[in-house]
Amino acid sequence: MKKWIENLLALQDVDMQIINLKMRLKMLPKEIKDIQNKIQREEEILHNAKGDFQHTELAIKQTESAINQLNEKISHLQQQSSMVKKNTEFKAMLSEIDQFKEKISEKETEEILLLDQLEEHKNNFKAKEKQFEADKSNLLDEVEELKQMEVEIKEQIENLQNSRKDFECKIESNVLGLYKRLLAKGTPPMVKVNASGICGSCHLKITPQTWTEAKKGAVISCDNCSHLIYLND
Ligand SMILES: [Zn+2]
Repeated sequence: MKKWIENLLALQDVDMQIINLKMRLKMLPKEIKDIQNKIQREEEILHNAKGDFQHTELAIKQTESAINQLNEKISHLQQQSSMVKKNTEFKAMLSEIDQFKEKISEKETEEILLLDQLEEHKNNFKAKEKQFEADKSNLLDEVEELKQMEVEIKEQIENLQNSRKDFECKIESNVLGLYKRLLAKGTPPMVKVNASGICGSCHLKITPQTWTEAKKGAVISCDNCSHLIYLND
């Protein structure tokens, strides 16, 4: 294999590593953001579950307080009724007491339902809280790992960019110019042509003239896709 081919392949190897690392690096911020969003969503779910639990607790307290007030009203009316002389007034008071008792009974039914709900909301909240604690620490670990990866990839790219200079200075400037234009497309600029004359990039057959040149080890491009080509010795 001609020296220029070896040198260019060595440079290409470094450059492709840099391209792949840059692609990986580019994806990281979104991956980190996605995990952070997931934590936030779970936090909201937990917050809502806590809200349901607390609202039910409050509703029970309000119901109990309403029952107490109704009981107070009843005992007040009972005290008054003992001093009432007129039968009609007495009957009116008894009927009012009955209405209050009916309301108490309604409130008590409400309370039983609320107590069931409270149990359900409490269990739901506790389960979500437990789940969240476990998930959160895993997700935060993942974020840390990705951030660490970001630092490492940046270092690797820097090292490769330094080492590529040693390879680059061995390449002739006209070849390097062509190589760089092809590299800008993000795919390997130099490709192998197989024994049947098929270009490794566009998979089309090169012309016999190009084949002859390539066989000599000349700097030559594919007739179809312009990639630099070489034959495998
Ligand atoms: Zn081609």
